[in-house]
Amino acid sequence: MPITIGKGVSHLVHLHKGGAQPTKASVGYIYAPGTSLRCNECAFITPGGKCTDYAGEEQNVSAENGSCNDWQDLRKGRIHGNGSRTQKQTAYIENKAGFGCRRCEHMDLAKSDCNAVDKDSPGDNPGRIDPYGCCTLWEKDPKRGKWPESKFQ
Ligand code: SF4
Ligand code: SF4
Repeated sequence: MPITIGKGVSHLVHLHKGGAQPTKASVGYIYAPGTSLRCNECAFITPGGKCTDYAGEEQNVSAENGSCNDWQDLRKGRIHGNGSRTQKQTAYIENKAGFGCRRCEHMDLAKSDCNAVDKDSPGDNPGRIDPYGCCTLWEKDPKRGKWPESKFQ
């Protein structure tokens, strides 16, 4: 995800109550079915589990629990980063169960919608927000944020 507004720091983004919601493009909405958007599913991870998006000690991310706003799908090929980013810039966070709209407090699973992003704006999943999407406004849902993948099947 190319946007540097942070997962977990959505207070930095004004959610327009009663007005226009942010577009999918402005919050880096992506559709990543079959993943939980973890570091071990990200193109920047080395086979040894280091993140090449960062330099030095920051490369020691949690492959199982970590993620950030620079996440890219490893299934499209590995990327050797140049270590130019910091964990603060990319809003690196950890969550044992993983990420994705299905674990975000903004998601309405029954309506395939979210209260933070305009589902009708251009981007992946036209007209809806998908449980297997994600964006930079992700916030851990108190219940679903802890659910393993099997509970969403
Ligand atoms: S910290 Fe971000 S860029 Fe690095 S491996 Fe994890 S998701 Fe990918
Ligand atoms: S449900 Fe959460 S992660 Fe998904 S688009 Fe909405 S704010 Fe972003």
